[in-house]
Amino acid sequence: MTSSTLGQPSKARERFVLRGVTVVNTRDGSLTADMDVLVEGNSIGAIKAVDNSAGNESTRVIDGSGKFVVPGFLDLHVHSLEEKDPSGGLALMLANGVTGFRQMSGSDRLLKRRATGTLVLPDASPGLLAMPGSILTPVNAGTEAAAIATVRGQQEAGADFIKVGMVKPASFFAAQVEARRLGIPIVGHLPTGIDVVAASKGGMKSIEHLGPGVGILAATSTDESGVQEMLAKKPEMKLPPFRFPYMDKLMAVMIKKLVVNPLARADPVDVQALGRADSTFSEERVLALAAHFVADGTWQSPTLIRVRTQQFADAPEYSNDPNLRYMSEDTIKQWRKVTSKFLELPAAARAIFRANYALQLRLTKLFDEAGVKMIAGSDVSGAAWEIPGFSLHQEFDQLGAAGLSPLRVLQMATLDGAEFLGTTSTMGTVEAGKNADLVLLDANPLDGVDNLHTVAAVVRAGRYYSRADLDELKNEVAAARSVR
Ligand SMILES: [Zn+2]
Repeated sequence: MTSSTLGQPSKARERFVLRGVTVVNTRDGSLTADMDVLVEGNSIGAIKAVDNSAGNESTRVIDGSGKFVVPGFLDLHVHSLEEKDPSGGLALMLANGVTGFRQMSGSDRLLKRRATGTLVLPDASPGLLAMPGSILTPVNAGTEAAAIATVRGQQEAGADFIKVGMVKPASFFAAQVEARRLGIPIVGHLPTGIDVVAASKGGMKSIEHLGPGVGILAATSTDESGVQEMLAKKPEMKLPPFRFPYMDKLMAVMIKKLVVNPLARADPVDVQALGRADSTFSEERVLALAAHFVADGTWQSPTLIRVRTQQFADAPEYSNDPNLRYMSEDTIKQWRKVTSKFLELPAAARAIFRANYALQLRLTKLFDEAGVKMIAGSDVSGAAWEIPGFSLHQEFDQLGAAGLSPLRVLQMATLDGAEFLGTTSTMGTVEAGKNADLVLLDANPLDGVDNLHTVAAVVRAGRYYSRADLDELKNEVAAARSVR
């Protein structure tokens, strides 16, 4: 990251006014037209009615008439820092209006680099808002004792939160108890066989990908015990009985390969259980579960685009995506390979996935109506067919397809994300004193989710990127095809 060549030349920070913009209030969707937004250093200096006499030699005036200003978008499920050089992906995120992200997998090395100040991202990058240690897996949390030790170690190493992957229920709950004791948030997946209500009560700050898989749907089934019995038949993940040097690294490589599209290697037991959960889906049970999430303060990070790119891996809109021009040849090759593997699944299994996706959209809508708190995230860098920055916009479209209002989608990507992170004093709304992380849109984002795509300019940490600047960034990335 320090050796980044992309996103150059670095832009100078200057004092400027965005003149004549319409400010979108992310709290209630109200609009205030004809405003001057003054940006000074890293923050919004003032917001006032247009004053053409304001501005002098030391203040650049940027015409924002006809534009709508919203807070920069937050992608709260990202894996980019695992890349050898993440600068290309980060630049693409910025070019799409993403000004902040939650890294969803870390390592001792990344935590150490951050602690010692050597984890320096390029200027043309969204800000790193939160980062965990290594994901809890059978390697570092195979037993309750190991799970507890890992949570402690990561907290000491400076992790902002604990991320749970697929571990045994005993390890899962032991990790939750220890995290709560230490006061560090715990988020992540609901491993197979977990009691969703117990996980929520135990203090899951956010559940990712609606499970994933059967995950939450086990609890929304009128035959929850039947679904769980099916899942119990799944063979356990086998680990070598001894540890050897580089085992963690080897596991990381294996996991990385698997997560590209885990469904391509779906266990028939999972498919069967998913089908059973679908056919016994109950709205009444969704509402009962939603009440638990609301009461417990359990957030959802649906990452619908992650679910969709898995379950519709063979859809032409992914394999023919013009934005593949930003991705490295190796990555595209890997995505095509895993997709052909997906196509080897029985047609019946793929039909179950398709039907299931419609249900995941319904679930998201029901949660929203019930007041379950939700954040926007893509799961980019690791998931097949997800291209940094663009995939968050695809997430907006999926949230819209689920039936969420444009304001709700905007809130999930701004104000609610800030609330989730505990940073509403500096983020989430366009107000004086807040961080100068902004997006200018050509069209009113409250008129349609599509309008969130009309990024006309981005302000990131007080630096102004015009549409031309953003296009240049994108072209540099395409020329290097550096995104993995
Ligand atoms: Zn993830």
